[in-house]
Amino acid sequence: MIEQNKYCQFCGTHLVRKYDRSKMRSFCEACNVFKYVDPKVAVVAIVPSNNTILLIRRAIEPHLGKWSLPSGYVDRGESIENALVREVFEETTICASPHRYLGVFSGKGPVIVHVYVATHKSGTAKAAEEVSEIKWFELGKIPELPFPYDQEIMSAYKTYLHNL
Ligand SMILES: [Zn+2]
Repeated sequence: MIEQNKYCQFCGTHLVRKYDRSKMRSFCEACNVFKYVDPKVAVVAIVPSNNTILLIRRAIEPHLGKWSLPSGYVDRGESIENALVREVFEETTICASPHRYLGVFSGKGPVIVHVYVATHKSGTAKAAEEVSEIKWFELGKIPELPFPYDQEIMSAYKTYLHNL
């Protein structure tokens, strides 16, 4: 679901829906302004090793207990590449660096996801922040991944491998 505020964050008035040119948006009749809701930006890392990739088991909501690709939100002012390095390190303690840009995935909710294939530079992966377990999974044995673009991401990764 796209997150929308119900009330104006400046004056507290209940927002109405109204056409802003061609698009229906939330509108504050007291402030006389449309409310634009920005997307969130996230980065996802596929870290391969031989025929495996690194997955983390989430120790936080959403999808607590599910296996997932290392990922996280990009901070304002931070480059996507730096966010990847930071998030992979925070979750797995390995140093990884972006290797190939796999693509951008958008349109399914509040988050726009940029995906890189990353190179494992140094360190041994272990469960760190917000992660309960870590494992290198063979590509044929990847568990069901919980986020909206995961299937598309894995399919883009297989195409990438095929074209190497
Ligand atoms: Zn208002």
